[in-house]
Amino acid sequence: MNLYDLNREQLIQFTENWGFRPIHADRIWKHLYARLLLSIDSTDKHLPKDLLLRLQKETSLQIPHLEEETKSSDGFTRKFLLKLQDGETIETVLMRYSGRTTACVSSQAGCAMGCVFCATGQMGFSRHLTAGEIVTQVLHIDRILRNQGEKLRNVVFMGMGEPLHNYESVMTAVDILCDKRGLSLAGKRISVSTVGHVPGIRRLTEEKRNISLAVSLHGATDIDRNALVPLGRRWPLAELMDVCRQYTDTLDRHIFFEWTLIEGKNDSPAQTHTLGQLLEGIPSHVNLIPLNPTQGYNGKPGNNAAAHAFQSILSQYNIPCTIRQRRGIDVAAGCGQLKELKQKDAS
Ligand code: SAH
Ligand code: SF4
Repeated sequence: MNLYDLNREQLIQFTENWGFRPIHADRIWKHLYARLLLSIDSTDKHLPKDLLLRLQKETSLQIPHLEEETKSSDGFTRKFLLKLQDGETIETVLMRYSGRTTACVSSQAGCAMGCVFCATGQMGFSRHLTAGEIVTQVLHIDRILRNQGEKLRNVVFMGMGEPLHNYESVMTAVDILCDKRGLSLAGKRISVSTVGHVPGIRRLTEEKRNISLAVSLHGATDIDRNALVPLGRRWPLAELMDVCRQYTDTLDRHIFFEWTLIEGKNDSPAQTHTLGQLLEGIPSHVNLIPLNPTQGYNGKPGNNAAAHAFQSILSQYNIPCTIRQRRGIDVAAGCGQLKELKQKDAS
């Protein structure tokens, strides 16, 4: 058993099944998530000897191995390629813009959704990550920040993979990250970005999950969208918008819509008007991100003028729109791009 896979209740249950009181599970929890220890001290006087022995024999604390690190020239982004127990590699990014500290984490090794412009999509799907494999990415970043006297504030699931395709593990990880006796991150500072996984959004709504939601749209008609996001064929826009509306109505919050701007594909004024109409009645904020070019896709980023025109058209619909900088592009900061480069070097 990898102890990082368990949320606090599960850890209490786990040690209770061995006959130990919750107070001992709480102490283990503190070691892992308040003190960020990498192992349970086998001389810990506050934990019973037989518990320490069983922990040593039957559990592990699996920490990913740092395979490679790159820094952007502006110093704001550090990207880590982490190797998991079975040799799979995933990406985790530390971003530090205008006083905000953010960990961008992966939820899967690869991705099954196949968005044509995305380096991870081009790799295909290897497997889901466990909750522990998600949590230890955050711990990796938190340790670095703490060593510099800073604290991690935000976590975004915008690394490799589709988080709502791996719902259970992602939500167990969210529970761990938000636990008040541990990292104690604020739910609203955890953002799950989805390609538009309709059952996943429905479940977030039913469970009234107190986290932020970003939906990657990229197209405002099924034809435009499906050319970039093949998953759109399974869950067409009408269905996706329906479930988004239920989410914003039920939880009384807004949704961030992500739009990767690609020249000649989704950067025209007509397409922007269609988007404005599509989002009517849904409290929204649009994030516009010019495409990061990838090996497997022959597209160009939409230019500055197109981005500003996009923003100004959306303002006619009262939809706030932020143009995101392609910062850290020199560290291959697009999703899956460091791994892509590494594979290319090796071949
Ligand atoms: N699978 C989820 C989360 C990971 S991708 C999702 O698709 O939302 C995080 C964001 O990066 C998505 O909005 C995705 O569309 C965007 N993205 C992926 N590849 C990109 C690229 N090459 N250039 C710009 N944005 C990209
Ligand atoms: Fe998967 Fe997101 Fe990349 Fe699409 S953009 S392939 S859903 S990681």
